[in-house]
Amino acid sequence: MGGLAPPPPVEQRAPGRWQVGTVTRIKRETPRVKSFRIDLPIWIPHLPGQHYDVRLTAEDGYQAQRSYSIASSPLDEGGIELTIDLLEDGEVSPHFHDVVVEGDRVEVRGPLTSYFVWHGESPALLLGGGSGVVPLMAMLRHRRRTMPELPMRLVYSVRAGEAVIYADELGDDAILTFTREPPSGWSGHTGRIDAALVAEAGVEPGIAFVCGSNGFVEAASQLALEAGFDPEQVRTERFGPTG
Ligand SMILES: Cc1cc2nc3c(=O)[nH]c(=O)nc-3n(C[C@H](O)[C@H](O)[C@H](O)COP(=O)(O)OP(=O)(O)OC[C@H]3O[C@@H](n4cnc5c(N)ncnc54)[C@H](O)[C@@H]3O)c2cc1C
Repeated sequence: MGGLAPPPPVEQRAPGRWQVGTVTRIKRETPRVKSFRIDLPIWIPHLPGQHYDVRLTAEDGYQAQRSYSIASSPLDEGGIELTIDLLEDGEVSPHFHDVVVEGDRVEVRGPLTSYFVWHGESPALLLGGGSGVVPLMAMLRHRRRTMPELPMRLVYSVRAGEAVIYADELGDDAILTFTREPPSGWSGHTGRIDAALVAEAGVEPGIAFVCGSNGFVEAASQLALEAGFDPEQVRTERFGPTG
């Protein structure tokens, strides 16, 4: 995007209304993924799995709008964390990576309703590919702080060792598999998520949340069905056309 015009003022309190948040913290997660804490003048508690829309406006009025899942627990009041994967030829993600700095203001609206939300159902199986881990992390984080005994397990498919998002937060409730370049010395799983890995997660059916690229979601939701999850209990969110 070219030069950005100042965002308009807040209109009124409602998830569907645009408001202007302030970026208060930026954390580099991986070489191509950053997390942004955005404080909001009108903060509405979200459900893990929901997303916000982000809108950029150029000086000539051109606008670009994209959706980003909330990574944070709703217990973190007053703002949200968004985690954005850089697509070099994209419009919005490069702006966040290359232009936005702490203290900047950004226009957002949400939390937006979706059927991809966790209300506390259990047991819960989370299948994530790449940046598809973002809304699943909101679920894990919230469950750890509210219901740590609740059965929930994340199976997370990542291309390479350097691409693990939230690496310092993944514990016994997560199983990783590397599809291309595992870190040196890795003795765990490699290759795509398969039936054996889903079985190893040890989550009885249950509710399943599956998030990632179209191809990942197709394959992983099929595995959840084969593992005995009811079709109505397999919730999917697709982030983009490829990957
Ligand atoms: C409900 C929802 C939640 C989302 N949450 C997140 C999130 O938490 N983090 C995140 O990083 N993204 C998320 N996305 C994807 C995000 O909305 C954008 O599509 C993404 O950031 C690309 O936008 P862009 O403007 O940078 O690229 P664009 O200008 O839209 O696209 C540039 C190029 O990349 C391709 N492309 C677009 N999206 C993807 C993709 N996801 N993967 C691979 N190629 C793609 C396009 O076909 C095009 O060739 C979510 C999408 C949805 C629908």
